[in-house]
Amino acid sequence: MAKEIIALTQEYTENIVAVGEVGLDYHWVKDSVKRKAQEPIFLRFIELANELNLPLVIHSRKAEAEAAAILEKHAAHGVLMHCFDGSTDVAKRVADNGWHITLPANFSRYRTRVSAARTVPLEHILLETDGPYLSPTESRNEPANLTIGCQSLAEVLDLTMEHVAEVTTQNALGFYRL
Ligand SMILES: [Zn+2]
Repeated sequence: MAKEIIALTQEYTENIVAVGEVGLDYHWVKDSVKRKAQEPIFLRFIELANELNLPLVIHSRKAEAEAAAILEKHAAHGVLMHCFDGSTDVAKRVADNGWHITLPANFSRYRTRVSAARTVPLEHILLETDGPYLSPTESRNEPANLTIGCQSLAEVLDLTMEHVAEVTTQNALGFYRL
């Protein structure tokens, strides 16, 4: 599977803006041998991004620090930790490394994510809706809820929604080189 994805990515590089989501998932994978087995595959995709001069979009659940350690050693271009739920320590590392994070539309319900929003500079934060279950409303999540995430981030940072919308849009354009 990884081989096919890598071959397709190499073939269609000019139409691809990033490599991802790749990373480590310790939420669904509890077995230590299986957790370890994710690392060489993760590394192979980091190398692919380096080879193709593309940024990386990282999926890491309950493994943010472990993923950050690997990325600090190996990632050559941009790094975006999507749906960030790492500790304040990892958020500081993200900021120090000049990486980006995305926050889901309901991020203000999570203490870790509010802390990350305050730790990572706004210039390195993007907004996303992510999965159907990460909804800020009673209904299934949908892309239109981006505005709710924007409103929340404006409140957390005591900025106007317009400013947050403008900066996060520029961040997305910059990160993905659109
Ligand atoms: Zn993900």
